Amino acid sequence: MDAKTRKNLWAPWRTAYITGIEKKDDGCIFCSKPGQDRSHDKDNHLLYRGKTGFVLMNLYPYNNGHLMIIPYRHTSDILDLDAEESAEMWELLCVSKRALTAVMNPDGFNVGMNLGRTAGAGIDQHIHLHIVPRWNGDTNFMPVVGETKVISQALSDTYDTLLPHFSRG
Ligand SMILES: [Zn+2]
Repeated sequence: MDAKTRKNLWAPWRTAYITGIEKKDDGCIFCSKPGQDRSHDKDNHLLYRGKTGFVLMNLYPYNNGHLMIIPYRHTSDILDLDAEESAEMWELLCVSKRALTAVMNPDGFNVGMNLGRTAGAGIDQHIHLHIVPRWNGDTNFMPVVGETKVISQALSDTYDTLLPHFSRG
């Protein structure tokens, strides 16, 4: 598969993302998704609701299992978070890493935040911490499953396998 084909396969995704289709209904998706009833959590790919933050699957993943840890508070600045919110983000990051390790056994992880548009944040008004599992030689993963329907099914399958690892006994 050449670079041009690869780009075409991903065009629908990127178009939806760039034009903000995900955001058009009620503003910030990181506020609206946890704001909906829990019965919508599966459809929203919301894996876990904590006290001050939640875990959401990324619909435009860099890799299978790409999760985001997000405070409920709508803020663009990590300095706005209080101690409890900051601590729970770290806790949920650890829960996420444990779950991804148990289910997917990755060779490594990328963990990070893009603060501000200039730094590459797609949604810069509401901070979110990314955790992306990585496998040796995974740079070719996306083109292999590069159709929206396949990805959509993959997201749901991944959601189902990860979900039990987010339940607190
Ligand atoms: Zn928000």
